[in-house]
Amino acid sequence: MDRKETCLRVVVRVRPLTCQELRRGDQRVVHCLGDNTIYVNAAGQEAAFRASAAFDAGTSQEGLFEGSGMKRLIELAANRFSCTAFAFGQTGSGKTYSLMGPLAQSEGQPVTPYLGGLMQRAFVCLLEQTQCYRPGLVLSASYVEIHNEQVRDLLSPGPPRPLPVRWSKTRGFYIENLLTVEFGSLEAIMDLLQEGTRRRRSAAHVLNRHSSRSHALLTIRIHRKALSPDPSSCQQGVLCFVDLAGSERVKDTGSAGERLVEASNINRSLLALGHCISLLVDPRRRRNHIPYRDSKLTRLLAESLGGSGITLMVACISPSSRCLPETLRTLRFASRAK
Ligand code: ADP
Ligand code: MG
Repeated sequence: MDRKETCLRVVVRVRPLTCQELRRGDQRVVHCLGDNTIYVNAAGQEAAFRASAAFDAGTSQEGLFEGSGMKRLIELAANRFSCTAFAFGQTGSGKTYSLMGPLAQSEGQPVTPYLGGLMQRAFVCLLEQTQCYRPGLVLSASYVEIHNEQVRDLLSPGPPRPLPVRWSKTRGFYIENLLTVEFGSLEAIMDLLQEGTRRRRSAAHVLNRHSSRSHALLTIRIHRKALSPDPSSCQQGVLCFVDLAGSERVKDTGSAGERLVEASNINRSLLALGHCISLLVDPRRRRNHIPYRDSKLTRLLAESLGGSGITLMVACISPSSRCLPETLRTLRFASRAK
């Protein structure tokens, strides 16, 4: 990788106003200007933020994929680097849509390809790379959720059990007993993704709004066909997609007991992530100790955040006047990281 290439790209995507927001008569207060500036203008408040790229409400899924630099992450992952793409923002801002397309809404139905998100598009590229140009390489996937600082395997059938996160000299942080599944077609990986997402949502019935309160990590490994069962024994590239928990501030009043624990765990991991990134992007502090151990999320992302690949952060925001406070928080987080 070119030394001058930046290790963190921060792009902002503004989603369209939803039907509900339009019906309510919400004002559109966020605009993208030509030079990757996001301009916020609401009664009495005016602010501008710069990003590596800014995508307005009219941007297609393909437009996001092409303009976000995702292809570079894929290229690096295919060349043994570790890269991460994560979506950040308040609940309802378009994180899942940007990563997976409208799949999460239409259970059981295949996604129209042109609505496919960054993940589907990346799978297509990776499959092409490995099958056409590097037939010796195979792809495998694991899919976990982190909720309340507990890691749960979304691909493993049996009853959900929290899996321990361990550290070893050779492997770094890893999840013990995690299921990793090899795949060789778009259908196969999409089935795994749907299956895991369904498992994630079945817990949502038990715990209200569970899925917006947990982080989902899909990790694709690109490696030579393993001769030994230990995946760390052969050098490999990694591409990780993270659908982060909603970043909205949970009001202290009204959240008690379990909900309060949950809220403080979300804040803890998002804070830890923000902290690690702010140290990593500062060349003077990059060599310092990076506090990955502060949360499960940062432990699991340590390899790809601190490695030599690229991290892509997609900050998702709503254009609505009603979301203004959270939109400003997301944009501030994004511009601090940049
Ligand atoms: P989040 O994952 O951040 O909670 P979602 O991705 O579920 O948010 O998006 C919330 C709603 O907005 C969904 O109905 C989704 O289909 C819609 N949506 C989000 N982004 C877009 C977009 N760019 N274009 C069209 N609809 C979108
Ligand atoms: Mg979501």
